[in-house]
Amino acid sequence: MSLALYDTWSRTLRPFTPIHPDHVGLYCCGPTVYDYAHIGNLRTYVFEDILRRALELNGYIVRHVVNITDVGHLVSDADEGEDKMEKGSRRTGESAWQIAERYTAAFRADWRALNLLEPSIWCRATDHIGEQIAFIDTLERKGYTYQTADGVYFDTSRQDDYGYLARLDSSGLQAGKRVAVGDKRQATDFALWKLSPPDSRRQMEWDSPWGRGFPGWHIECSAMSAQYLSPWFDIHCGGEDHIAVHHSNEIAQTQACYGTRLANFWMHGHFLTLDTAKMAKSSGDFLRIQTLIDRGIDPLAYRYLCLTAHYRSTLRFTYDALDAAQTTLDRLRKAYASWAVDGMAGAGAGADADADADADADADADFVARFNAEVNQDLNLPRALAVLWDLVKSDLPEAVRRATVDRFDTVLGLGLADWRPDRVEIPVPIKVLADRRQEARIAKDWAESDRLREALKAAGWGVEDQPHGYRLHEYPGKTGPLPHVM
Ligand code: AMP
Ligand code: ZN
Repeated sequence: MSLALYDTWSRTLRPFTPIHPDHVGLYCCGPTVYDYAHIGNLRTYVFEDILRRALELNGYIVRHVVNITDVGHLVSDADEGEDKMEKGSRRTGESAWQIAERYTAAFRADWRALNLLEPSIWCRATDHIGEQIAFIDTLERKGYTYQTADGVYFDTSRQDDYGYLARLDSSGLQAGKRVAVGDKRQATDFALWKLSPPDSRRQMEWDSPWGRGFPGWHIECSAMSAQYLSPWFDIHCGGEDHIAVHHSNEIAQTQACYGTRLANFWMHGHFLTLDTAKMAKSSGDFLRIQTLIDRGIDPLAYRYLCLTAHYRSTLRFTYDALDAAQTTLDRLRKAYASWAVDGMAGAGAGADADADADADADADADFVARFNAEVNQDLNLPRALAVLWDLVKSDLPEAVRRATVDRFDTVLGLGLADWRPDRVEIPVPIKVLADRRQEARIAKDWAESDRLREALKAAGWGVEDQPHGYRLHEYPGKTGPLPHVM
């Protein structure tokens, strides 16, 4: 069964055919690196990772491009307020460049923790200022721009179908939505280049034909997708919030410059929601991967939770649901490890004797066909997981179940073959000390963190810090008395 994907442009499920045989160009709007990513942002990247894996399952070679927005994303969609990077700099006292560096590294650590496949290309907006200026220059020559006191704007009245992706009404506005106009001619017009205030210098600014300043947010995606894919490529993704403004504006720019609507398919992941404000970065106290790790949750359990909801339905986050995902993932890991053939993963009953024969077992063709059909039906992962559990509970030989799950995991990305049960039981007092040390580190209480490291060492345990959390290891033969934990 061939792949069908829901396209926001046509609002239909369409059979997927690539523009160039066997190859797929995929562009995903990346993070704005003025703060950590929250787990809602990361739900969108999990959806995009599943899409990429589904394309590869169907035999396509995917060129996957993800941008890093390290400049020019204003606090409001109406092109007012501060650049988010400069705002982050004021909040932390670091330079805008240091902030971008730090949160890009943190984002990539989250990316790895969720077992997302590395994109073919990461591209930063600040490395492509020249391309963005050239793009704006072309728009200006074609008569799509005008200048105000604070920048160069795109004139959306020049396009009859502006906002078609979002089905904006003829005045270019969604019913009931009020948008400030300021010096702009239409509320939907948007900044291509913002000028630095004449009397002050910004940390991130560049010379341009219009004066010193910085690019608007939307232009980087039009410029970099054209450069790394082409002005007409297969699939463009993002979260649903991008439909009305960011993606509508990317399309407007590319259509004006190249006459294409950028991508053949437009796909959008729906939001992860929370009852409280904890999802908004602006609240200053939001949920991120580290928050989950500090609670003893494996990031891959969050990945599993994302797979339990279809990407086009809202997922309401609760810790109960996350804990349930962790329990289910643990059950899956243990079942898989019990079918081990390499003697490493342990519990497999009598599997070692015919390890060679088992390692060559074929996946079950019927199960693979059922699983692939669900994936190919617009990435129906909740139903694909149901097929997985039917398989786990089936009475097929263990080696066949294992080989079949290996095939499924190329799409699920749960890293089942890499998981090892804890072979060493960590005594509770050791775990408590290590958790306290982790808390001390988060609070930057280095003296307390060093004291706890020494206490662990005296009890015969070493602690290694990891990008997310820590790992404990025993010093062979050196185990001391267990510490008394109050
Ligand atoms: P940003 O870093 O704000 O540019 O967002 C990065 C990605 O996360 C974009 O694709 C957004 O559409 C997406 N996004 C933002 N908030 C959420 C949310 N609550 N749930 C899912 N995706 C989100
Ligand atoms: Zn974008």
